[in-house]
Amino acid sequence: MMQRHHPKPTLASERAAARRVLADLFPEAFEVGLAFDLSLLYAECGECGRPLVWPVNVTRLVLKHAGVAPESLDYSHLLRSNGCAVCSPELTDPIITLVRLM
Ligand SMILES: [Zn+2]
Repeated sequence: MMQRHHPKPTLASERAAARRVLADLFPEAFEVGLAFDLSLLYAECGECGRPLVWPVNVTRLVLKHAGVAPESLDYSHLLRSNGCAVCSPELTDPIITLVRLM
């Protein structure tokens, strides 16, 4: 009997296969502009480095207020404040900055 050679799957090929499966299941999630989930946008305090945990939808409102289109963002972006309730309790109106890494 002939032995068939199965190439060992690489991480890249496994990811591509998983993406194909997801694209079949949730095609709307892969349309342009919808591929990045805003709830994954990381926010941190620029003074003490703590992650900023805020209610659902605040990120969307912050971006809307700043005139930033969510579709223009990806995983290289994060939000940074000039203080948080822990390190700067006197700060009532923190300034939120959009930062692009790399
Ligand atoms: Zn802080």
